[in-house]
Amino acid sequence: MKTIKVSVVTPDGPVYDAEVEMVSTKAKSGELGIMAGHIPMVAPLQIGSVRLKNEGRTDLIAVNGGFLEVRPDVVTILAQTAERAETIDLARAQAAKARAEQRLQDSTDAVDAKRAELALKRAVNRINIAERNF
Ligand code: ATP
Repeated sequence: MKTIKVSVVTPDGPVYDAEVEMVSTKAKSGELGIMAGHIPMVAPLQIGSVRLKNEGRTDLIAVNGGFLEVRPDVVTILAQTAERAETIDLARAQAAKARAEQRLQDSTDAVDAKRAELALKRAVNRINIAERNF
């Protein structure tokens, strides 16, 4: 099967580089599946997962926003943060989730509540990806 190169990059550096058969993720506009030969495009991403399929295996990455760009020979994902499933610190994500839930309960300020909501989404996403149920 034809493959396409995928690079996942964050401000801290590259997180993933490989040739894959298919990239799947949820963009703001809906579910995306990209294979070799896909038309060039740019799409904003949400807090969610990127699934990379090659030769019967699926690599999973937790991403926090950013953009996906499809060019003829490469898919680039530029995200604020990105972690491969196997590098996620589950205890840290669980602690972040508990902190965010507490802040949501305590907050009287809309800005604080919004920040806590986003922190909660990042933590739940990391937990789901580390546990591979999404
Ligand atoms: P925390 O409160 O635990 O820092 P956060 O959602 O505020 O969580 P971010 O600001 O999204 O953290 O990320 C800061 C850095 O820490 C990034 O490099 C990110 O990849 C990394 N990171 C955050 N949480 C985890 C985790 N559970 N496992 C591995 N790396 C993580």
